[in-house]
Amino acid sequence: MRNAVCVTVDVEDFYDGMAALGHDVARPPGPPRGLGSLLERLEAQPGKPKVTLFVVANYAPAVRAELAAFAAAGHEIASHGADHGRLPTGAASEWLRKGREVLEDLLGVSVRGFRSPRFDIPGDGGLPRYRDELAAAGYHYVSDTSRLGTPSPVREVPVLSWRGIRLGGGSYQRLLPFSVVEAAARRSPGPAVLYYHSYDFDGTLPGLGAVRSPMLARQLLGRGRIAPIVWRLTERFGSETCAHVAG
Ligand SMILES: [Zn+2]
Repeated sequence: MRNAVCVTVDVEDFYDGMAALGHDVARPPGPPRGLGSLLERLEAQPGKPKVTLFVVANYAPAVRAELAAFAAAGHEIASHGADHGRLPTGAASEWLRKGREVLEDLLGVSVRGFRSPRFDIPGDGGLPRYRDELAAAGYHYVSDTSRLGTPSPVREVPVLSWRGIRLGGGSYQRLLPFSVVEAAARRSPGPAVLYYHSYDFDGTLPGLGAVRSPMLARQLLGRGRIAPIVWRLTERFGSETCAHVAG
């Protein structure tokens, strides 16, 4: 039987993320367009691949109509945090719960999964406590880069990696030959969870010629390759939601 592939997309604002890193990048006029073009493309594919969107709650109102269209088409809405900051130390449960409830109230869907911004785990109490907090905040599964294994009260649906390299990520895939990514997805011992960002499908990110900072140039290098990689992978493997493979 073929291995399940889960295409996931972190839904967040590129310009806010860059500002948080100290880079003010001019925002193009008009609303963000990435999600609309992603949905259109997925719907046009044979087999109708289903994806999971990990959505930052405070960004969700800006793309509410697009998220509702994804949910209506059978895709999954999951949480990427109340905001895109660091996980709070101490009482993380409240922050985790808020990320879920904002999406559920806004969209009228049930949110089962969580992925932290930058795959963070809180500094205090380590992984066991974090997994407990996720369960207490009402989540059924988590998709990150850590594994607690059997003791975890939430299912773990980790992103695809190989020898510590996060091959599942678009940021790595844009720099690797397609055959490497394809082989890793094929050989993954469990579901191959791949992750991208909503702005990878937007087509309005600044060109490399427009930026001066080497850090920002690194962020943008090869970004245009990501969407075509996703189309090839979903055509080849299809895609299931994380909630589906988490059971
Ligand atoms: Zn993120």
